[in-house]
Amino acid sequence: MGTSLTLFKLYGIEMRVHWSFLLIVAYYAFIYSGSGANPLSGAAYGVLMILLLFLCVTLHELGHALVAKYYKINVPNITLLPIGGVANLERMPDKPMQEFLIAIAGPLVNIVLAAVLAPFAGLALVSAMNNGELANNTAAVWRFAQTPGLANLVVSLAALNLLLALFNLLPAFPMDGGRILRALLAMAIPYVQATRTAVLVGRLMAGLFALWGIMGGGVFLLLIAFFVYVGGGAELEAVESRAVLKHIHAEDALTPSAVSLYSSERVSRAVDLVMSSYQTDYPVLDLSSRFIGVLTRARLIQALRDAGPESRIVDVMLPADDVPTASPRETLDKLWERMMQRGTRVVAVKDGPEFLGLITLDDISEVFQVIGAKQQGAGGNRPPGDAAKADPSVRGAVDA
Ligand SMILES: [Zn+2]
Repeated sequence: MGTSLTLFKLYGIEMRVHWSFLLIVAYYAFIYSGSGANPLSGAAYGVLMILLLFLCVTLHELGHALVAKYYKINVPNITLLPIGGVANLERMPDKPMQEFLIAIAGPLVNIVLAAVLAPFAGLALVSAMNNGELANNTAAVWRFAQTPGLANLVVSLAALNLLLALFNLLPAFPMDGGRILRALLAMAIPYVQATRTAVLVGRLMAGLFALWGIMGGGVFLLLIAFFVYVGGGAELEAVESRAVLKHIHAEDALTPSAVSLYSSERVSRAVDLVMSSYQTDYPVLDLSSRFIGVLTRARLIQALRDAGPESRIVDVMLPADDVPTASPRETLDKLWERMMQRGTRVVAVKDGPEFLGLITLDDISEVFQVIGAKQQGAGGNRPPGDAAKADPSVRGAVDA
């Protein structure tokens, strides 16, 4: 995603702006520079206009984020991009009703803003008409909205909020309207099937956006078409992957021949093991075989670089407190979710106090390869290296 600047924190959510946001500010300054008394005042008005518009986009995102937080879904940040905002949800809601409410909250914020501004906008239009400053036709009102001035600004923002709400409600998954469609479908049919249908409808919409963009609607529609097409596919893949993981228990995914290290051993012993096997992450046990940590590949490399092969494993391992745990009967989708949330690549499987083994992202990847091989021709699943990137919990919804 590149570089973003954090502006401030609100309700525990970091409010960020992506550097490319400056492009749209510059663009508005440029297109409005000819509309003012002089280029500078015109440009300043353009900047004010786009900042107020993005304030409305931010409020829209906060609508999504606060409903998500109400359902105990963490929202680490909201990022503003030139094509809109993104509220990053750490995971997707389990229940269709929750997804429905989270998705609709954003457009509802814009409808409320439009409704609040509408009386003032109406008053501004009527008084301009009575003064003879404005002809009673749509083209004249459109020009009026784009002319610098306070009354004009109110008319403009009222109209833009209404447009924001309507555009986002179009059923172009993963835009809000598409999420609403998926949620409604998921109340009647299985989640994966509901997602497939919503993605298909979304792709048709993406085609229409692209056509509209080429026919003169502008480059933003092409960007949105691209985002809808790619984003929809990525989310479908993640949903399908998760559906597969839902059917496998942690105990069935454990590697029986996995090797453990002991806390008193040196890093050089791990190097020997790495050289002679495919195992990349090693559980570390104390002398009474209690699980006390994990020597991950990254930790091993770091230890070799910083402390050398004679350093003790216990000093360089990831301590057990930092490793999420799971019970043997839990399904892999829950384990994967935990890895994503905690930012680790391992989960320790424990039956009460007894340590059974580790499940790593590589193990999950292997599950996909096996299932993918079984389903060859029937559209097998990709390994979660890709799917993890497409995980909806780390991308959230972009709003135009
Ligand atoms: Zn939205």
